[in-house]
Amino acid sequence: MTQTPTRSDFDQYMVPNYAPQKAIPVRGEGSRLWDQEGKEYIDFAGGIAVNSLGHCHPVLVDALKDQADKLWHLSNVYTNEPALKLARSLVERTFADKVYLCSSGGEANEAALKLARRWAHDNHGEHKHRIVSFYQSFHGRTFFTVSVGGQPKYSQGFGPVPGGIAHGEFNDLDSVRDLIDADTCAVMVEPMQGEGGILPAEPEFLQGLRDLCDQHDALLIFDEVQTGVGRTGSLYAYMEYGVTPDILTSAKSLGGGFPVGAMLTTDRVAPALGIGTHGSTYGGNALASAVALAAVEHIDTPEVLTGVKQRHDLFREHLEAINRQHGVFKEIRGMGLLIGAEMSEAYQGRAKDILPLAIEEGVMALVAGPNVLRMAPSLVIPEADIAEGMARLERAIARLVAAQ
Ligand SMILES: *Cc1c(COP(=O)(O)O)cnc(C)c1O
Repeated sequence: MTQTPTRSDFDQYMVPNYAPQKAIPVRGEGSRLWDQEGKEYIDFAGGIAVNSLGHCHPVLVDALKDQADKLWHLSNVYTNEPALKLARSLVERTFADKVYLCSSGGEANEAALKLARRWAHDNHGEHKHRIVSFYQSFHGRTFFTVSVGGQPKYSQGFGPVPGGIAHGEFNDLDSVRDLIDADTCAVMVEPMQGEGGILPAEPEFLQGLRDLCDQHDALLIFDEVQTGVGRTGSLYAYMEYGVTPDILTSAKSLGGGFPVGAMLTTDRVAPALGIGTHGSTYGGNALASAVALAAVEHIDTPEVLTGVKQRHDLFREHLEAINRQHGVFKEIRGMGLLIGAEMSEAYQGRAKDILPLAIEEGVMALVAGPNVLRMAPSLVIPEADIAEGMARLERAIARLVAAQ
């Protein structure tokens, strides 16, 4: 194709499952992006909590270029140095003894759910296959993960869903007590619901799930695809809560923009995925592993993690100032650099109306459901970019209010 692609090419050539914005960014540096017309944007969206070090961070670019000249891919018929280094690094930094590598969050969760079922099958028998998860949860778009996820709109219309899955109320331990029993193999939960509206779990809730899982010999799975790798100000959110799962899934920030996923587990559980039970052609890809290793090593430092908490306070102060002026938010919440601003009564269902206005003003943001404006910027976003992005966001919100 010699002609410059345009937004209308999307409608002509792509399956219509997305409705992307009009602008097409062509270049990024740190927390700034430029589109085909040269218009500049401040990026508070971070590729949906993926671009953990912003765009084209030198640490990641160097890791990618360095590996690109050595070795890209082998398949799992062989192993490779970057994959082994990444697995070791994750084990040394977390509760885990063993790591399974793949290419996305959905795949990591698929592996976690299959592992839990297989572990229970091998150790307890066929009957122990039931999975408990939560309404409004999001675990990916494979058919198993949309079935375990708590948003029926993602699984409806695709035929019969797999059986043995039940949903409780997030942050309501009694609802789990009603669902969990000797036939439960796993409870899957996000320590902070992301797509569901940036809702942090209460510490007693996660500890209660841990206790219930222990009582019923079920595995506790933390989906940290969105909360993991520095997003909350700790390497993983479970560290923030002091509650340790049996299985943890990671993706998004893990690759800083390169597709990669990981499932972490213990020596007690891992053997259930014996030779041949599960796999992925790209799992442990050398390029993906090299970039992820660089991301983890750069992010899991006191400078970056403390910086995330400081930036959280800045985001909150700016959003509160905007709210004092315009009164559009009911609550500002979240942890680290995963921040949600819930719309006030007068603006119910209007979070998505902010996005096109924000883009016109030169700032990119996200929503989490109809009522929550979401931000998931680079973990190292400069203070000046936060201030400038917030000035632009304020102008967008002023326009929303003026049009009311
Ligand atoms: C994004 C997300 C997923 C799915 O990850 P993909 O890489 O899109 O497959 C799963 N769980 C949570 C909590 C997520 O935020």
